[in-house]
Amino acid sequence: MSKKISKIAVMTSGGDAPGMNAAVRSVVRTCAYHNISCLGIYRGYEGMIEGAFIELDARSVRGIINKGGTFLKSARCARFRTPEGRALAHKQLVKEGVDALVVIGGDGSFTGALHFNLEFNFPVIGIPGTIDNDISGTDRTLGYDTALNTAVEAIDKIRDTAHSHDRLFFVEVMGRDVGHIALNAGVGAGAEEILIPEEDMGIERLVESLERSKKSGKSSSIVVVAEGDKIGKSVFELKDYVDENLDEYDVRVSVLGHMQRGGSPTCYDRVLASRMGVKAVESLLAGESNFMVGSIHDKMELTPLKEAIKGKSKINKELIRVSEIMTT
Ligand code: ADP
Repeated sequence: MSKKISKIAVMTSGGDAPGMNAAVRSVVRTCAYHNISCLGIYRGYEGMIEGAFIELDARSVRGIINKGGTFLKSARCARFRTPEGRALAHKQLVKEGVDALVVIGGDGSFTGALHFNLEFNFPVIGIPGTIDNDISGTDRTLGYDTALNTAVEAIDKIRDTAHSHDRLFFVEVMGRDVGHIALNAGVGAGAEEILIPEEDMGIERLVESLERSKKSGKSSSIVVVAEGDKIGKSVFELKDYVDENLDEYDVRVSVLGHMQRGGSPTCYDRVLASRMGVKAVESLLAGESNFMVGSIHDKMELTPLKEAIKGKSKINKELIRVSEIMTT
């Protein structure tokens, strides 16, 4: 039988995402609800190795559900990639009497958690906190909805100025490996073209499409580009190419960058975080380990961490078709 759990540690790790604070709050309050202790770990695995801990009770997480970022801070930690580093981290948790761990992060953080579990038989549950929505086993990751709304709001503003000056804007959004933000924000903001890592539109087709656009009477255009788009050119290279090959356009570039990671989480992300935190703690109390909590068809479900790490969420083909129809 698994050991009775009386103290759970929680941390945020890897790339930060809006909603992480709300998830920590939920983990802490669920622990309080079940009369068990909760320990916050600062700066992810780095803080775990250093013993940077804080006792958290229900009241210590007040006023943070609406805050972006993570008050526990996040970090990347090379030492945790080594067995020696993980042994140090384990020692620290044992010293504090911690029985189980909730890791809020992305696939890198989950890989670390899996190693930790295998080496020390230490119960772990993951909560997917990343704006990219690139983890399988959940319809949405924490922070994705907020990032989408931030991107749409920014593109709407760029549209205003593009329209006033009859300009073409290449707007770069986050997404090195997956185009969820680009595709959804692009459709949501009415972009003329959307370039994503999953589909190779080809630069010639892009130029033809922009030419057609101009002929059809459009004076301004927005092209949303994911960081890792399949054409393989940066937004600046795309601008240079269009400058050289299309006289009619006055081309500008806007890189949205890290603003997409920040900001107050949307209601969707706050609710998702609250639900995931409850499910994570109650799964540990029920003796589960090595799972990631996810929302599948609006139900809280567990997916083995191994599968969540391996599988990348697929781009929505139906939405690609919708975007093509919308840009006619
Ligand atoms: P994310 O969790 O957002 O994907 P990273 O890939 O940077 O972010 O991972 C966060 C941290 O998780 C790393 O800094 C490291 O401490 C730990 N980690 C990542 N991959 C491994 C691994 N293969 N083994 C052990 N720890 C890992």
